[in-house]
Amino acid sequence: MNEYAIEAKGINIGFNGVQILHDVDFSVKKGEVHALVGPNGAGKSTLVKILNGVYVKDAGIISLYGQPCEYRTPEEALQAGIAMVFQDLSLVPTMTVAQNIFLKSIPFRFGPFIDDKASAKYALQLLERIGVNTEIHPGDLVSDLSIGQQQLVEIAKALSNDPKILILDEPTASLSTSEIERLFTVINTLKQKGITIIYITHYLQDIFKICDGVTMIRDGNVLFSKSTQDITLEQLVVSMTNDQGGSVTWEHVQGLREAKPLLEAIDLTTRSIENVSLSVYPGEIVGIAGLLGSGRTELLRALFGIDPLLRGEIRLDGKPITIHSTSDAIAHGIALVPENRREQGLVLDYSVSENLVMPIVHRIKRLLFVDEQKKDSISKRYIKQLGVKTQGPNQVVRYLSGGNQQKIVVAKCLASDSRVLLLDDPTFGVDLQAKHEIMKIIHAYAAKGNAVLMVSSEFNELADYCDSIYVMKRGKLSACMSGSMTEDTLLYMVQ
Ligand code: ADP
Ligand code: MG
Repeated sequence: MNEYAIEAKGINIGFNGVQILHDVDFSVKKGEVHALVGPNGAGKSTLVKILNGVYVKDAGIISLYGQPCEYRTPEEALQAGIAMVFQDLSLVPTMTVAQNIFLKSIPFRFGPFIDDKASAKYALQLLERIGVNTEIHPGDLVSDLSIGQQQLVEIAKALSNDPKILILDEPTASLSTSEIERLFTVINTLKQKGITIIYITHYLQDIFKICDGVTMIRDGNVLFSKSTQDITLEQLVVSMTNDQGGSVTWEHVQGLREAKPLLEAIDLTTRSIENVSLSVYPGEIVGIAGLLGSGRTELLRALFGIDPLLRGEIRLDGKPITIHSTSDAIAHGIALVPENRREQGLVLDYSVSENLVMPIVHRIKRLLFVDEQKKDSISKRYIKQLGVKTQGPNQVVRYLSGGNQQKIVVAKCLASDSRVLLLDDPTFGVDLQAKHEIMKIIHAYAAKGNAVLMVSSEFNELADYCDSIYVMKRGKLSACMSGSMTEDTLLYMVQ
C-alpha cells in the first residue's frame, strides 16, 4: 500500500519564459496536515494551483494514492478528490452564502429548478461542520459579511464537494484570533475523518499546532521537506528569511509630542463607533488593536469619509476639517490603504507602474501626455525601494503575489501628497521579510513628519512597530498604551 495521498515529482512551470518552479518534488502522506511555506513569490500558490488543475505543468508527474494522474482543469481535480480554497476570495458578493456554496455544484435540482430549501439546509450543515452556524447563516448576503467570515464560507464551499484532499492557501491571513482557533478545530476534525490537508501559511508558529509535516520552498526550489517533529520554529524562521532570525530591532521616530497633533479625532461617532477620541503626532505610527468587528476598520472609514459622522470632529494640524467624502479626505492629504486591497486598492489589470503613478498622474503630465520617462523612473524607484518581486514596471498587477500587490498599494499612497496615512491591516497575507520591508517604508514616511494610523490583527507587529496603541472593543476605545508592549498584553486587552 502506498502511504502517500499526493506525490508530485519533477514539477516545472514557467510563465512568459520565466521559470517559476524548478524540478519541485512534493509529497503528502495520507491523512496528514502538511504545511507548505516559503517567502512571498516563492511559488507556493503556483504549485498548489498545478495540483488543483488551475495551471498545467510544463513537466513532471503527479500521482494520487499511488496512481499517476493527469488532470487539466479544477473540475477534473475535483473529480479526483482535490478541492482548494484560494488565497484570494472568490465569492459573489451579491449572492447569499448558500448560493455561493453551491454556485458550481447545484446539487438540489428538480428539473430546471433549484431547491433553495434543500440547499439552505445543506449549507447550514456545512456551516455547522466548521462551527460558524450561529454567526453565518445560509441566507446572509456575502457582501454583508466581514472578510474573515467570507473566508469561512469559502471553506464551507470547498467542503461541499466532499474532497479527499483539501488545499488551503493562507486561510488564516484575514481571520481573527478566535476564528483561527475555530479553523484549527475544523482542520483537526477533517483530519480525523481521513482528509489530507495541504496548508499554506506564513504564520510559522501555527505549523506546530496543526501540521504533521512541512515543506519549505524558496524561489521555486524545495529547500526541505520534514516532519514537524524534526524541526524547530527558529530553524524555519532562519531558512525562510535567510538571516539569523531573532526579533525585530526597531528604531522609533521621536514623536514630536511637544508639537501639536497632526491628526485628531474628537468624539467620533458613526453607526458603528462611539465617542472615539485619539491623536497622532507628526512622526508617529499609532496602532489600533482590536478583534474583527471591534470597529477598527470603521474608525478608519470614518476618518476617510466613507462612513458619515453622526457626531464628533476631525482636526488636522489643530484645525477642524469637514470630510463628507473620500475626495474631501484626499484633498486634505489623507490616504487610506484598505483592508480589501483587491477590491479597493488596485486596478488589477493595470501594470505595476500605472497603479503606482495613479494618484500623482497630474504631476507627471506634460500638457496632455503622461511623461513616460518620469513614470518609469518613479516606478523603478519604488520597485527597488520596496523590493517588489515583479518582472518589471510593465507587469500586470494581477499576476503579482499577494505580498507584492500589497507593497504596490502602500507605495501608491506614499507616492501621493498625503500627510496622514491610514492603514487597515497593511501586512495582511504577507510574509515576514516583506512585512518588515513594508514597515520600513511606512516608518520612513512617518519620519518625514507625517502621521500614520494603523490597524493590525497581528499584535506582535503592533507591539514591534507602533509608538502608541489604542485598543478598540465593541466600537469604543478601551485603552491607550505607549512604551513597551507585548503581543500577550494586547491579546489579553482586546478580548
Ligand atoms: P507565493 O504563493 O509563494 O507567494 P506565487 O506562486 O503566487 O508565490 O508566485 C510565484 C511567482 O510566479 C511570482 O513571481 C509571480 O509573479 C509568478 N506568477 C504566478 N502566477 C503567474 C501568472 N499567471 N503569470 C505570470 N507570472 C505568474
Ligand atoms: Mg501565494
